[in-house]
Amino acid sequence: MVLLQDFTIEELSAYLTGNFNVKPYVAKQIYSWLNKSVDFDDMTDVSKTLRAQLKEQCFAKGCEIIQTLSSRLDGTQKFLFRLHDGNVVEGVLMNYKYGNTLCVSSQVGCRMGCKFCASTLEGLVRNLSAGEILGQVTAVNALGGGDARHVTNIVLMGSGEPLDNYDNVTKFLHLVTDPCGLNISQRNISLSTCGIVPNIKRLADDGFSVNLTLSLHNPFDEQRVAIMPVTRAYGVQQAVDACKYYFDKTGRRIIVEYTLIDGQNDSREHALKLASLLRGVSAHVNVIALNPVKETGLKATNETNLKKFIQYLEEKGVSATRRRTMGQDIEGACGQLRRRYLSNGTKNS
Ligand code: SAH
Repeated sequence: MVLLQDFTIEELSAYLTGNFNVKPYVAKQIYSWLNKSVDFDDMTDVSKTLRAQLKEQCFAKGCEIIQTLSSRLDGTQKFLFRLHDGNVVEGVLMNYKYGNTLCVSSQVGCRMGCKFCASTLEGLVRNLSAGEILGQVTAVNALGGGDARHVTNIVLMGSGEPLDNYDNVTKFLHLVTDPCGLNISQRNISLSTCGIVPNIKRLADDGFSVNLTLSLHNPFDEQRVAIMPVTRAYGVQQAVDACKYYFDKTGRRIIVEYTLIDGQNDSREHALKLASLLRGVSAHVNVIALNPVKETGLKATNETNLKKFIQYLEEKGVSATRRRTMGQDIEGACGQLRRRYLSNGTKNS
């Protein structure tokens, strides 16, 4: 089966013309339906014969929403998306004054092995294709009453390491920014990485200018490696240098993600080292309290230490804010909803 959401408009047109003798204007109509997360049955201006043929060989949507949890506190919604092979991934929709931000997944599981993260506990299952990432956005748009502008901002911060799935993720960026498609500007898209240095540079060299977030969590290599094994391949200084390179090419300020874990990375010494590491870098630090994942045994830093940590950074001239935690009453940290789904055995029911 072929997933039509994987195609650019040119590829779709070539595929449909070649295999179904479809005229380019019909391909255009179908492309527009695909961006509305509409299944073949509802493509009303496409002939019934063609719809039946397409149904036999293609999927119109990359995934479907099989569960939605809504926060009573702030309206945040958490989704479980099912892919065509039965795998599931998660997404979160957060409402802000400026619009709605959807956090999407780029892989089923993850092989980065970060000790605090629920997505990586069982390793990588597989990469998502471009259309499976796009499908998460269109499925959520469809929930918003078919309003193609329901999702205004995207963060690649769900399960997976986007720069470990470079080709599909960058193809997704092409698709989602397409003026004939969802037309979301790169300024409204953020990509978060644990620091795959060569691909940070490649992203800039390939002409992308999305917002880049570096998940740092510890400024000392010898400590960071214990919670983030990727440090063995790419040290902290290398990761920061790659971010500088990205900034120089794109002009986009770097966001540094720093999750405070009790007794591990939350001391004054850590803050001062982080500040010196970021000297001369156009960066903003998002400080977050750890969202505890039962299996990891790690605890969040208390409120007092969190405030102090931000204060130490600010005293050194580093711009830092606490990232608002949202949806606290639904499933917390990234990957937990999928884990509960899998352990309940609902996958086979
Ligand atoms: N692999 C990418 C994107 C996915 S993780 C990355 O590493 O950036 C998205 C963000 O959530 C990262 O900053 C990650 O470090 C953070 N994160 C993962 N588990 C967390 C937890 N339990 N509490 C707080 N932040 C967490």
